Formats: sequence, C-alpha cells, structure tokens
Amino acid sequence: MTETIAKRRVLSGMRPTGRLHLGNYMGALYNWVRLQDEYDCFFFIADWHALTTDYAKPGDVWQKSHDVALDFLAAGLDPQRTVIFKQSDVPQHAELHLAFSMFTPLGWLERVPTYKDQQEQLREKDLATYGFLGYPLLQSADILLYKPAFVPVGQDQVAHIELTREVARRFNQLYSSAVTPEVAAAKSDKELMKAEISENVIESAIFPEPQALLTPSPKLPGLDGRKMSKSYGNTIGLTESPDEIRKKLKTMVTDPARVRRTDPGNPDVCPVGDLHKVFSSEETLAKVYDGCRSAGIGCIECKGWASDSIIRELAPIAERRHALEANPRLVDEILQDGSERAAKVAKSSMQEAKVALGLARR
Ligand code: SF4
Repeated sequence: MTETIAKRRVLSGMRPTGRLHLGNYMGALYNWVRLQDEYDCFFFIADWHALTTDYAKPGDVWQKSHDVALDFLAAGLDPQRTVIFKQSDVPQHAELHLAFSMFTPLGWLERVPTYKDQQEQLREKDLATYGFLGYPLLQSADILLYKPAFVPVGQDQVAHIELTREVARRFNQLYSSAVTPEVAAAKSDKELMKAEISENVIESAIFPEPQALLTPSPKLPGLDGRKMSKSYGNTIGLTESPDEIRKKLKTMVTDPARVRRTDPGNPDVCPVGDLHKVFSSEETLAKVYDGCRSAGIGCIECKGWASDSIIRELAPIAERRHALEANPRLVDEILQDGSERAAKVAKSSMQEAKVALGLARR
C-alpha cells in the first residue's frame, strides 16, 4: 500500500499594483510557479494592503487585483494545484488581525525596519496612520491563518516573518492550553508581556511558527538602472509587446564608461548586462562579455540581444494572458473557487483562535 505524504504548505501574497513587471516576476512569481511542484501552495492578492499606503487615493483596486490575478495565471500558477485568492474575499484576515492587535506591543511594530524606511520614501503621503503601522501585523494574520510551514520571501521581508513568528509565539503562550512556566508565573499584565518568549515549540501551539523560505531573487534593474519599480516609472511589463520591449530597451542606461563606440565596457557594471545574466543563454552571455570588453560590439546590438532573450522568455506568458483575456469570467471563477478553498482553512483557524480567546464555546 502506498502512503500519501501530505505536502508542506507554502503561502505568500502580492499587493495589487496592476499589470506586473519583470521585477515582480523574477522577484517572486517565477519562484512561486516552481514551488507548486513540491508544496501545497496558497498565493493571494493582498488588496487590503493597497489601502495601507494609498488610502487617500485607492484608485481601482478591484481592476488592479484582477490584472494581477491574470498575470499570476499567465505566468503559470495553476488553480488546480494552487489556491489563488483575494485577501478581502476571506474576512478572517481582518478578524485575526483585530485579535492580534489586542496583545501586540506598539514597540514590535515601530521597530519593523520598513516602517521608518517607507515613511521616508513615501514622504508625500501621510503615513502616520494606524493602518500603516499595523500592516506587518495584518501580514502576520494573513500568514498564520493558513498555518504554513514556509513563507517564500526576499531578504528585505525577513523582519516581517520574524514579527509573525513572535506574534504566533505570543498568542500560543497567552492562549494555548499548555502555557510556558514564564507565563504561568506572571502576576500582572506587564509581567506577562515582559515574560521571556520561549524559543521552544509549544506542543499545543495553535499557530505554528512559519519559516522564511529565502528564494533567489536576481538583481533586476529598471530602465534607469535603479531597482525596477512602478513608482520609478522604469519598468518592463510582463506581457508587453515585443515592439514595446525593444523600444524600451533602447532607452536603457549602460556602463557610463562606454561614451564612444570604441570605448571598452564592463557588463558587470551595466544594467543591460544584469538583464543578460538573468535572461540570456551562456552562449549569448559569452558574446556580450567578449564584445563589450573589447569594444567589438555596440550597445545597440547588445540591447537587441537582451530584447531577444526577454521576448523569448515572456512569449508563452503573453500568449496565455491573451487567451485568458478572451474569457474574462474565468478569472472571476478561479478567484471565487480559490476564496472558497481558502475560507475553509481560514474559518477553521479563526474558530480555534476564538475558542482560545474565550470568544467561542469550547
Ligand atoms: S555592450 Fe552591452 S553590456 Fe556593454 S555597456 Fe553596452 S549595453 Fe552594457
């Protein structure tokens, strides 16, 4: 008799920024597609999170979410194997966030590095709001609701996973039936909150602590050489036409040492070189290094090769997106089905949490 081994669960989300770009693809989606083979995957569109920074002018979050869902599917997420859903369609995310907000010290949120960084970067917005301070806690609820073993993240998100682990630990210590000696010995709320957080796994943990799954995310510069991001207006879209990709690549900055065609350059300091490293074959890469260092090729020719490599990688994605666009109801149905599958898990976790919190009958 063959034994079925349950796959370990992986969960991650993405903000609804509209049609995705190459940076989103290589930074997350490319890896997610591959994780489907090995894990029980849950991937969601974090539409509530859009409001944490864009509450004053949210725009059409629904349309942007729909566009992200189309790109998820076009890139190869498979709704047969993976639960794909929208965060706001599963109300337990907001409910668990509220529960967590009752015991999370402000200091935990204030020390999340992105809190100050983002306030600096987005100075034109007033982010002195409760929602913005609490968004990493909403992320903790997003994650813990599904009790995943792993959360695939880039290095910049590791602090958020650490907060999630602390929140899980605190919840388990306060409300699980088996409390740690530190918590049992506490005589006041203050002592309780100061109680050393035990690193030991609590056997009856309601929320197991997830691990960060550090996924490779290659350096992917935008057209101006800075990190590819919609806010810099320097992106190459995941499903842009070949003509548009070629046109954009022609404007991309190069190694500043190559002022004249006869000046040798270095692909290691050139943003076009970075694109070649991600998308081009070994053979093309060798031609780029030789030709650039010896000034044997011009940048226009080199950018043409980079365009060819990108277009080749993206062609099947663009094709799938066109097919999906011809059937607009299909995406709605996939999201509906995904939210129902997600809600089954979310409801069960929320019920457990409510019992532990004394809000529901044991
Ligand atoms: S030849 Fe290519 S790698 Fe070298 S500087 Fe020009 S664009 Fe960059």
